[in-house]
Amino acid sequence: MTSTGATRLMPAYRINAWLEQPRMVDVPVPEPGPGEVLVAVAANGLCHSDLTMSQIPGEIGAAIGWRVPFTLGHEIAGTVAELGPETADAPPVGTGVALVSPASCGRCSYCLAGRDSACPNGLAGRGYGRDGGLARYVVAPVRALIRLDGLDPVAAAPLTDAGATSYHAVRRVLPVLEPGSTAVVLGAGGLGGFAIQHLKACSPARVVAVDTSKARLVVARELGADDTVVGVGGEPGEAGKVAGLLREASGGGAAAVLDFVGTDATIAAGIGAVRPTGAFGLVGSGGGTLRAPWYGGLPREAEVFTFQGSTIADARAVVALAAAGRIRSLVEVFTLDTVADAYRALDEGALRGRAVVTP
Ligand SMILES: [Zn+2]
Ligand SMILES: [Zn+2]
Repeated sequence: MTSTGATRLMPAYRINAWLEQPRMVDVPVPEPGPGEVLVAVAANGLCHSDLTMSQIPGEIGAAIGWRVPFTLGHEIAGTVAELGPETADAPPVGTGVALVSPASCGRCSYCLAGRDSACPNGLAGRGYGRDGGLARYVVAPVRALIRLDGLDPVAAAPLTDAGATSYHAVRRVLPVLEPGSTAVVLGAGGLGGFAIQHLKACSPARVVAVDTSKARLVVARELGADDTVVGVGGEPGEAGKVAGLLREASGGGAAAVLDFVGTDATIAAGIGAVRPTGAFGLVGSGGGTLRAPWYGGLPREAEVFTFQGSTIADARAVVALAAAGRIRSLVEVFTLDTVADAYRALDEGALRGRAVVTP
């Protein structure tokens, strides 16, 4: 390897070994390989999943193709700083970009059909098993770049994961959302807050938000929710009561319910609120079980679906919606040296918006 000078170092917040807490370390500034660019990170959103990554046992990490050490951070926006070889189609140095969060190969049948969120070759990506955005620089393939077109990178970063995943869910239920219909959003946190906005921007449906936190429901109203219901924390009988309230609030049953929590209580309340021929999307990974008893269980002819992540097309669509001023990101900004505080606040549920770190 040839080098034109001393190796440049940068601080990075990373998982250094399996089952170890992440910490700040100085690492070399990466060099873009063929088809890649170096991006100067302007903003990186923190995701709940980051908190659990250091608790993965090494054998499971290795089985899904992750390698330690790696830098955390998978909601990234910044500026193209340097072009690697074979990047004729890359935006020029200086262009503001957001980085598509889910990794995908671009070659398999799912990717070629535009269904890259189902790509079997995308289990490791920037910030999960590879170096991510909690550093001054990160490398990314040209395929992952979305031009910001003037959009603030701090607002853009959370769109790549929280914004795009919730958009993916909303896009799935658009066919059942006719004028006069109701869509229910269970969990009005980061993803739910975006889902409320996507539903208002892209569908004619009335939107009802459900959350255990009254403060989050105040924010849900600000983001466009037409109605709110307090619940469902899982008290005995509460799911049935909330389902009843939701059926009442939607004139007999909701056309679509999107569950961003995924506990036994939210799943039971959500399924109980869906009208026949409606749709229930399970997005949150709260560990709940969807039961299908032979009587009085699932709504008739309703669709039940689940998924993980989002497509490149979803990310492009949400960046365009934000650039047009039709959705917005609620953020709380932290610097890189206070990233541990930001994660603590995230863990304690003390944030009003997405935590975004500006290296
Ligand atoms: Zn995430
Ligand atoms: Zn693929």
